[in-house]
Amino acid sequence: MEAIKKFKDSVLSLFGFKSNSKYVRNYLNEANVRSSIYMAAIIIVLEIWMIIRQFQRYIIVFLSYDETKYAAFHEAGYTKAEFFEYYYDKWGYSGHLSYIFNSISFYLIFILAAVAVLIYAISYFKNTAYHRNKKYTIANIIISSICILWIFMLIPQKIPTDNIGKWTTILMYVSLMVLGATILLNTIYTSIRIKARNILSIVVISSFACLCLLFGIKIGYSDFAHTTENMEKYYMITCFLTMVIFVSCLLIFKPYISILMNTTIFVVFAMMLDSFEGREFLDGDRVNYITFLVSLTMITISIYQQRVSEASKDRNLEFIASFDELTDIYNFQHFCKEIIEKQTAHAESIKGWIYLFFNIENFKAYNDKRTFEAGDELLLYFGHDIRDEFLDGITARQGDDHFVVFAPNDDIEERLDVLSKRLKNLDPELKLELKVGSYIPTLYEKPNRAVDKARYACGSCKNRYDKHYATYDDAMDSFFHKKQYIINNLDRAIEEGWIIPYYQPVVWSNNKKLCGCEALARWKDPDYGLLSPKDFIPILEECRLIQKLDVCIWESVCKTLRSLLDSGERIVPVSLNFSRIDFELMDVPEIVEGLITKYKLDKRYIHIEVTESALSDSQSKLEVALIKLKSLGYAIWLDDFGSGYSSLNVLKDYEFDVVKLDMKFLTNFDDNKKSRSILESIIDLSSRIGMNTLTEGVETNSQADFLNDVGCGRLQGYLYGRPITREELLDGIHSGKYVIGDILE
Ligand code: C2E
Ligand code: CA
Ligand code: CA
Repeated sequence: MEAIKKFKDSVLSLFGFKSNSKYVRNYLNEANVRSSIYMAAIIIVLEIWMIIRQFQRYIIVFLSYDETKYAAFHEAGYTKAEFFEYYYDKWGYSGHLSYIFNSISFYLIFILAAVAVLIYAISYFKNTAYHRNKKYTIANIIISSICILWIFMLIPQKIPTDNIGKWTTILMYVSLMVLGATILLNTIYTSIRIKARNILSIVVISSFACLCLLFGIKIGYSDFAHTTENMEKYYMITCFLTMVIFVSCLLIFKPYISILMNTTIFVVFAMMLDSFEGREFLDGDRVNYITFLVSLTMITISIYQQRVSEASKDRNLEFIASFDELTDIYNFQHFCKEIIEKQTAHAESIKGWIYLFFNIENFKAYNDKRTFEAGDELLLYFGHDIRDEFLDGITARQGDDHFVVFAPNDDIEERLDVLSKRLKNLDPELKLELKVGSYIPTLYEKPNRAVDKARYACGSCKNRYDKHYATYDDAMDSFFHKKQYIINNLDRAIEEGWIIPYYQPVVWSNNKKLCGCEALARWKDPDYGLLSPKDFIPILEECRLIQKLDVCIWESVCKTLRSLLDSGERIVPVSLNFSRIDFELMDVPEIVEGLITKYKLDKRYIHIEVTESALSDSQSKLEVALIKLKSLGYAIWLDDFGSGYSSLNVLKDYEFDVVKLDMKFLTNFDDNKKSRSILESIIDLSSRIGMNTLTEGVETNSQADFLNDVGCGRLQGYLYGRPITREELLDGIHSGKYVIGDILE
């Protein structure tokens, strides 16, 4: 029994009676569309060749027409047509071009159909739901309209009177009409942002296949009919056979459809030949004919089976590629893919859905304290929790401790509460916090952009104990646009000179004379006005673009120093800011040296400021570069000391010329006795290990006096001037507002 069932199953699937998965169906359809590109291309070439042949015949006859020879024929009582048939070629007797046009109109139909299919098939692959190329849409509309109009032009013309001629002609017209109409329909359908339906492709390809088969029948049959008795064989019947092979091997739907189609067309053709009076369809030919049909059927089945097995393999691979290895839920690529599929096929079903972006705060601490394995396990559990809570939506992991969800906008806050509690319970001691950002997209918004916005909303809850959930709002939106603007326009801003350094004075604390200045970037934007570093520096650092801006500022400063020297001004050293990313992405010493050489400057006029946070996660590249710069003779300044998790090791491990104390130390200066003691100790400590000090953010005289008393060498802050333009600084020097002190220690 079991064996019989197995046998039955395998026979059914052999002939394609088993239904395929959607994936396999799409795969088969795509394979057919791809094949039709080749089919159409071959047909175009062949038919152009045919047309050329027709003209060639006409031209040959026309050129070699011999009046005297014809006169002899005429006298013997033959007609002009007979004369032509005897001497040249019966087709050559047109005498009139209209005959030729009549005979090529048939080829033209074919070329038209092939061009239409070619454009259709190419645009099938090139036009995706998001990437619609107008050129293809227009080309499709034009060619399909021509197909339809062409038929209306042909209809009034003479349709052959014999049965075969009449029916093949009518069927060809119908096929071309169906082809044109389906492409037109499909183009309109897809231009409303919906992906093409497979069924439409099947109709397009089938009507084209019909045309091919009709062509085969027509040529094959007429050749059979016109071959005269004294010729042993009819030759062009191979045209019919070729067309059938062509269609059967390239367009594979289901084996039983191919069998049905091939058998029908063979039977019809055999009957046509059989019923033809005047020539016999030989028995031997009939045997050849059937052998041919059987072989073709086997080939068709084999191609079908091959394609199905390829599709299944592909599907398995895709399945593996869809999941996140660690958590076993979808990965981000698959998440996006699934949403795009929904948007293209069932957009209505995701109306009002919402994106959620999840971040686990303190996860790093969890990893540190409980080991990486435990961290991985937590992600696995919690990923499943999120997925189970949003079973009505799509859940994926986006890397690190980030998860994304796209789901119906129902009871979101309640569901998040549940998840948040569950997360806390996973390890109550370590205070894991769930932070979630949400965003309601427009219907066809790209998933990765939408997730960016949800992520951005989530970022607004960062390090805030009172806030766990935020929705993307207008304020965020304008920030988001600004962010995109900055990223997209950095190169332009550099080119157009929108990015310039401002200079903030630095003074000696004992005499308040100018000892240098710090170059601070400003972006003078035509749309957004003057942008300050907090608007663009963090964004450029995040996108690893900051090095472009930094190089621009360094060069601008060097250029300015050179031109001031050239015009006889006295100059002061300038501190340049360096980001961690500069060292990661570029050979900083080489670039700095290049600038110094190019502008022929003394190295002592450049100070290199590196922030403390850049040094915190130790990086060999940065260390090597700093040692190199130091050995080349540049002064290295430690910026923002005390702003983050200061580690005295930084002072121990590196050789700094100046330590810049962060302005944080000066907050509550007047009320907080402790901050004075701390400042005093750090300044003392620095001088003991041979480093000079500078305090940033000096705003009052009492601060300045105190710092001078405890031995801080340099001061910088609004008390002595805000960052100003080069011209303003020069004016200040010329007017005596700033007096240049000793500049090189
Ligand atoms: P920073 O290097 O610590 O620069 C000092 C910042 O403190 C400047 O802000 C300055 O205007 C401000 N400041 C100076 N004195 C006072 C004061 O008395 N009170 C107060 N409240 N603030 C004062 P700015 O110009 O907005 O720059 C911010 C940060 O952006 C800089 O901090 C620096 O880290 C970064 N930055 C600026 N220009 C560049 C650049 O060209 N490249 C890189 N990589 N970063 C830059
Ligand atoms: Ca700085
Ligand atoms: Ca600083």
